[in-house]
Amino acid sequence: MNDTASRYKTVCAAIERAARDCDRAPDDVRLIAVSKTHPAEAIGPVLEAGQRDFGENYVQEAMAKWPALRQRFPETVLHLIGPLQSNKAREAVELFDVIHSLDRASLARALAKEIARKVANGGGAPALFIQVNTGEEPQKGGVLPLDADDFIRACRDEYGLEISGLMCIPPFDEPPSPHFALLRKIAERNGLAGLSMGMSADFDAAIQLGATHVRVGTAIFGERGTPSG
Ligand SMILES: *Cc1c(COP(=O)(O)O)cnc(C)c1O
Repeated sequence: MNDTASRYKTVCAAIERAARDCDRAPDDVRLIAVSKTHPAEAIGPVLEAGQRDFGENYVQEAMAKWPALRQRFPETVLHLIGPLQSNKAREAVELFDVIHSLDRASLARALAKEIARKVANGGGAPALFIQVNTGEEPQKGGVLPLDADDFIRACRDEYGLEISGLMCIPPFDEPPSPHFALLRKIAERNGLAGLSMGMSADFDAAIQLGATHVRVGTAIFGERGTPSG
């Protein structure tokens, strides 16, 4: 096993332990291996070790890397976890199985249009998570917590989108648990089952607070260099 594969195994074991510690079934927590900025050669060993869910931040980068990897591993599930520009909605809907960063009406409209086009051509619709800016940080994507209920309703009723859950990225310099708890509260009152929360540094806390999807990059692939894409 190479270093990446062995770090991957360590993360899997830690997730399983965190789930059991709070009486959750380990299968209820899905690990998304965040491979952004890492080349195909770094991703291969993790695919070979059995991982199938991967997260990418940049549409362009994912389009360059994943088609070839997917030919080798057709059951791969690709998650877009980075901000999405409306003019990339078509490419994102074509490539990704799950989009975690829906956060504004213009994007909801663009996604609804591209999903309708894809479904009409016999394709499948990606699952959608709404990103909530729980820390109300100006530089970060996501709807504000106070606007979340209205936005979820608009996505469902005005744009006809099926929403799977919510996603958040807590502020870097704050304890994450209050943010995870807030996300869960918003999800519960809107009847949403999916909670995409928890990264390398805090996935234990996220699992305790109900995460269904944890997004782990550094703990598997090591430190990232300069982002590409
Ligand atoms: C990069 C990224 C991650 C992974 O972060 P690590 O700290 O490397 O585990 C998770 N979620 C999002 C939205 C990211 O951009």
